[in-house]
Amino acid sequence: NILFIRGLMILFLSCLTIRLNFCISSIPSSLKALPLKGHFSFEEADLKHVARDFGNRYQSHPMAVLHPKSVSDIADTIKHIWNLGPSSQLTVAARGHGHSLQGQAQSHGGVVINMESLSVPEMQVYTGESPYVDVSGGELWINILHETLKYGLTPRSWTDYLHLTVGGTLSNGGVSGQAFRHGPQISNVQKLEIVTGTGEVVNCSEEQNGDLFHGVLGGLGQFGIITKARIVLEPAPTMVKWIRVLYADFTAFTRDQEKLIFAKKAFDYVEGFVIINRTGLLNNWRSSFNPQNPVQAIKFKSDGRTLFCLELGKYYNLEETLVVNQEVEKHLSHLNHIPSTLFQTEVTYVDFLDRVHISEVKLRSKGLWDVPHPWLNLFIPKTKIHHFAEVVFGNIVTETSNGPVLIYPVNKSKWDNRTSVVMPEEDIFYLVAFLASAVPSSNGPDGLENILNQNKKILEYCERSHLGVKQYLPHYTTEEAWRLHFGSQWQIFQQRKSVYDPLAMLAPGQQIFQKSI
Ligand code: FAD
Repeated sequence: NILFIRGLMILFLSCLTIRLNFCISSIPSSLKALPLKGHFSFEEADLKHVARDFGNRYQSHPMAVLHPKSVSDIADTIKHIWNLGPSSQLTVAARGHGHSLQGQAQSHGGVVINMESLSVPEMQVYTGESPYVDVSGGELWINILHETLKYGLTPRSWTDYLHLTVGGTLSNGGVSGQAFRHGPQISNVQKLEIVTGTGEVVNCSEEQNGDLFHGVLGGLGQFGIITKARIVLEPAPTMVKWIRVLYADFTAFTRDQEKLIFAKKAFDYVEGFVIINRTGLLNNWRSSFNPQNPVQAIKFKSDGRTLFCLELGKYYNLEETLVVNQEVEKHLSHLNHIPSTLFQTEVTYVDFLDRVHISEVKLRSKGLWDVPHPWLNLFIPKTKIHHFAEVVFGNIVTETSNGPVLIYPVNKSKWDNRTSVVMPEEDIFYLVAFLASAVPSSNGPDGLENILNQNKKILEYCERSHLGVKQYLPHYTTEEAWRLHFGSQWQIFQQRKSVYDPLAMLAPGQQIFQKSI
């Protein structure tokens, strides 16, 4: 009898395995059979392309790439996979411009949706009293800039680099030197269209389906795919006065930064960066900044000191030049930088916003763009920033030659705590971004191992000293670590997941949830 029952069980399990294998092997043809405006690709070159990202360290091959031409292509695909149930094990990753750092837009053996192919809606600019633009979730910010400028308008809040998609930055936050005034990009969105993890297409805003709206903003792609977004606009300037001043004293530097983020109408952009162990300065300016008085800049020697560079931008139109010059001079006269270190230039608004792309072109020509990028981005509470700087700059981080270290404060009142983004407890916090490029096969300070080790030391120090630091563009690999990251927000994050993506099939590359089997 026992032998008979065992035999039956083996037969049953074999049938189940054969059925499962059959289901899995028939998935490509079932995807191919979907009536779509776009198409699925199973080409090796396509799969290989989406298996990597800007970080250049993690690679997961999907089974297929969807190139959608309509929102219903995305909804039908997700609905189809949802209907296959948990046993299919298929996951779905929206891929914006693939500028994640640790495989966040990848899906091992699943479907990657190439959001840039989504050609609807075409951008629609509304030029009335409170202007906005409706865009596709796969649109690049640089294209939005060019389109809205045709109407004399522009989005208000940016990232430092514009060759990123709307869906990609809204899934994280979108922070740059304008965030002190307008909040991050997620504070400048009025409406979203989302395809949830069950394939439902939902419109949402503060007033309509507010829970999904807030959940998706900074939600790391966990609750749905952003297919459309309405972005707030304002009148565009044509020019920017771009200014850099240096400090040797960290207290004076941060005091001035904090003063400026509360000064009404002083500057439109406030950032800063750290210069560690440098000699000549001019050749090492980050990005495309070319000061008008290069002789003065050449004369200044940092001589290996740790210096802090405050970077400011003032927007204007040509006819306002005289008045703006006077205003800027007045505001600069209240700063406590090293007197001989005032470097200025004037550039067009587009060149200013697209400045990192100019560096990209230079780096690409030297083969230095597609290298590993072991970046670390941290939000640090204001009251802990001095302690952090003392220990980290010049002690743990001894070089900045392999990439900039950005540091600037933002004002939490401009952030919406109903969104999913995780922030420190305090009202003002600093973004500190270690944006290193690793030199391939180097064992020196600019090698990958060394930079990763340095990042680890920084994180260990933050944890040991209970600084209340939060990672931005967070990367964790265990549920316990994610719980700690989210803290009191974990419960609502988890609850939203069970409502909007119950099978946990979306954005598996974030490694927060596993598709339930
Ligand atoms: P991807 O890397 O393709 O995707 C990121 C995540 O979002 C993935 O989990 C993906 O599944 C999900 N996702 C993508 N599209 C959608 C969608 N439509 N709906 C739902 N989920 C989606 N960030 C800042 O905040 N400020 C900066 O100044 C800044 N500068 C940067 C400069 C460079 C050179 C680089 C490489 C990155 C920078 N970033 C900055 C980080 C950047 O905002 C994020 O890496 C962002 O995710 C990249 O956008 P992407 O379109 O490439 O998204």
